[in-house]
Amino acid sequence: MIEVSQKCIGCTKCVPVCPFAAIQMMSKKAVINEACTLCGVCVQVCPVEAISITREEASTRDLSGYKGVWVFVEMSEPDDKASARKIKQVAFELLSAGRKLADDLGQELCAVVLTDKNRAYEKELGPLGADKMYLVENPELFEYNTDIFSTVVTALINMHKPAVMLYPATIQGRDLAPRVAAALYVGLTADCTGLAIKDGLLLQSRPAFGGNIMADILSPNSRPQMATVRPNVMKLSEPIYGKTAVLVRADIKIDKSLRRVKVLERKIMRECGTLKISDAKIIVSGGRGMKTKEKFKTLEELASLLGGMVGASRAAVDMGFKEKARQVGQSGTTVSPRLYLAFGISGAVQHIVGMRASDVIIAVNKDSNASIFNVATYGIVGDAHEILPKLIEALKKGAKGC
Ligand SMILES: Cc1cc2nc3c(=O)[nH]c(=O)nc-3n(C[C@H](O)[C@H](O)[C@H](O)COP(=O)(O)OP(=O)(O)OC[C@H]3O[C@@H](n4cnc5c(N)ncnc54)[C@H](O)[C@@H]3O)c2cc1C
Repeated sequence: MIEVSQKCIGCTKCVPVCPFAAIQMMSKKAVINEACTLCGVCVQVCPVEAISITREEASTRDLSGYKGVWVFVEMSEPDDKASARKIKQVAFELLSAGRKLADDLGQELCAVVLTDKNRAYEKELGPLGADKMYLVENPELFEYNTDIFSTVVTALINMHKPAVMLYPATIQGRDLAPRVAAALYVGLTADCTGLAIKDGLLLQSRPAFGGNIMADILSPNSRPQMATVRPNVMKLSEPIYGKTAVLVRADIKIDKSLRRVKVLERKIMRECGTLKISDAKIIVSGGRGMKTKEKFKTLEELASLLGGMVGASRAAVDMGFKEKARQVGQSGTTVSPRLYLAFGISGAVQHIVGMRASDVIIAVNKDSNASIFNVATYGIVGDAHEILPKLIEALKKGAKGC
């Protein structure tokens, strides 16, 4: 329930910011009509705290009207106003995961696109499983802005009531999702590594207590059930060629005054010729078992012969063998290359959560009981310092033979 108290001074600040034109001034007081969705934007702008929202007890709410699985589609930031914004790979990964959830629920999978200009994104999102694409097209959505995007997403959710909403655990998603959760008064599970449907509810799995246990989280009393998922955690499914998502245009009013942060200048840092470890197709990783920085360098030679990049466990990073940007795992980067080689890495859960989505994992460890073998496709029990030179030699011979 929303109420305007006697404190209202008739300043009208709440009127233009309401995305639903649900506030009018009557006798110099704000009056809220039935178009209100309780999005809470007016509460934030009221200078005298005259507007208040009382939320219903979660357990007494009727949640039966909430249907469908939604994915927030993150776009690349534009270089300038003329350049096209592209859908980020993580959106396709979330759609692949969302498709399975939607099928299990027997509901629709919908993509949510906020952009200044639609470039037929529905044709790209359909093949990855989206049944519908909710589109908000407005010049104000040219670039990501916390206030504007969170207001629009909250408004969309209030209008269409999805059961599940997934966001990428990227800088943008980690900024947006908590804002929306707070505005809607619902829960949010960050950095999920597994999603499933259990008894009609979203089962959200994520590492907890420093990664020592996996926590399974349910949100039975609120909707939508919301989660963020890191890039490279969910596997891409096979595209359904020819499928197009049905385009649903959402008419949401956006008031410029909501924008509290203005981007005055944009400097795009491009690491020329340097691939990010999250994008590498082949990763040769080393752990504490590589013993010294010098010995760790042999991994570089193998990586260059394979056309891959070198990664490291946190222990290897802590020992100064490799820079932090190359750390794979829970507090590093999540990767999903086609081939992941692990030399002298024990396979702690915090490392595994960052690489287990790799297509093929080859582990070399002198301890036959090392946990890394539980996720490895091929395991070699032996000394990394004996195996590595042999592997390098064999690859060099193979290259000469071609
Ligand atoms: C909150 C938190 C976040 C964390 N985040 C991360 C993260 O993002 N990434 C990460 O990696 N870790 C992370 N960790 C640390 C993690 O728990 C482990 O400590 C770390 O992964 C261990 O690294 P390691 O496998 O290289 O070293 P160790 O566990 O010491 O394992 C070394 C392995 O090398 C093998 N070995 C030794 N000599 C040889 C040899 N000659 N040949 C072959 N094998 C050999 C040993 O048998 C052993 O299995 C995190 C921990 C916490 C608490």
